[in-house]
Amino acid sequence: MLFFLAPAVLAEGLPDLGELAQVEVSPQLERRVGEAAMRDIRMHDSAYLEDAEIRDYLNRLGRRLTAQIDDWHGDFEFFVLKDATLNAFAMPGGYIGVHTGLILAAESESELASVLAHEISHVTQRHLARMVNKQGQAQLASMLAMAVAILAAHNNPDVAMGAAMAGQAAGIQSQLNYSRDFEREADRMGLQLLEKGGFDVRDMASFFERLQKFGRLYENGAPGYLRTHPLTTERIADMENRIQQRSHHQAVDSLGFVLVRAKLRAADGSPEAAITDFETLVKEHRSASEAAAHYGLARAYVRDKRYDDAGRELAQLRRLKLESPMVETLAAELSAAHADLPAAVRTLKAAAARYPQDRAITYALVDDLLADQRSSEAVPMIEAGVLAYPADPRMRGLQAKTYAAQGKLLAQHRAQAEVYALQGQLPAAIEQLQLAQKSPDGDFYLYSAVDARMRDLKAQYAEELARKKNGEDR
Ligand SMILES: [Zn+2]
Repeated sequence: MLFFLAPAVLAEGLPDLGELAQVEVSPQLERRVGEAAMRDIRMHDSAYLEDAEIRDYLNRLGRRLTAQIDDWHGDFEFFVLKDATLNAFAMPGGYIGVHTGLILAAESESELASVLAHEISHVTQRHLARMVNKQGQAQLASMLAMAVAILAAHNNPDVAMGAAMAGQAAGIQSQLNYSRDFEREADRMGLQLLEKGGFDVRDMASFFERLQKFGRLYENGAPGYLRTHPLTTERIADMENRIQQRSHHQAVDSLGFVLVRAKLRAADGSPEAAITDFETLVKEHRSASEAAAHYGLARAYVRDKRYDDAGRELAQLRRLKLESPMVETLAAELSAAHADLPAAVRTLKAAAARYPQDRAITYALVDDLLADQRSSEAVPMIEAGVLAYPADPRMRGLQAKTYAAQGKLLAQHRAQAEVYALQGQLPAAIEQLQLAQKSPDGDFYLYSAVDARMRDLKAQYAEELARKKNGEDR
């Protein structure tokens, strides 16, 4: 299963069942549906993990794979859901979600990459569109039921059970059988991406085999991944067969992989339990990576507000001379916790020079500059951030906050309008532009730019209303 739609997607008047049953699903339509579902997840799914370091790591890993695809012009976006079950899924339009449980279950970076490669291949082979085009409306209805269940599961387990059962009745079983060919195809293509990306292809079979073993333990309550990607012994044998025929090599896990997993583990369970876990790792030198043990322990101490202890672990990390932006943000966080904002800013400025593309550093730097009443220094930082990531609502939100601190009203409302536009809230965006028009601090060019953007958003909104109306009329 690779289709995922949130209820609000339909409420917004995006393709309703009638519309989809009659037209071929184009890549543009897929992207539109995916974008709407993604917005919905960002705003309403409590499991959505708003952690720039983990998300950016996952996107870097994903890009190592997607860079190997020939003939593909679409974008991919990888995101993380805080959920202990082992699952990953592809939505229309190249949005790929990964549960934290799956990241923690992966024992190597190649294992994690193998699941991403499989999902990426579902997207590039356009399995969703092929399924919908072939099976039409009834099929889509059951997929929607399943999708509602997935979203609900993050917010309320009881609702999810009911919805999943309703979905079952609508014929999910036939869809799962149908997708076996797709599964094989995604395995085959995924393996190629994995090999070209420089990962260890053997880890694909080992990880899927382990997933299958987990599945047997759960019986009916199988982890999500197995329910949506039926994993048969035959499939694993097929994978192993292909791997035999390829040259393979050991791939070294990146520091990012090691630190991201430590960060997730440190956030899991109670702070006390996390501290005990990592203290044991540090003491017994049992951790394969000393860096992960000290970093995880520092993060666990931060949760318990034991900043001095965390500082001791940071000193250990410094001794290891690690090159990672994640160590710098940790250092800045500890300075800020000790109310030493100038030190936090110094650390982050040096880090921003070394890692100019790192969003977590930009977020933290702008936040700390604003907290330290240095908004004029924040302006060039946030402007560079918005230039690099124009579609990032959080970056736009920080931009609005920076201009607000500067007392620049027009610029503030313009930035806030973009936050709402990115969240799909067009009326709120238009309202912000009206406020920008009324702001006294513009000039001819600025007011013209606001007017132009206003026309643009109004046209988009009219189109959205028309789509909604059409959907209802049919
Ligand atoms: Zn699959």
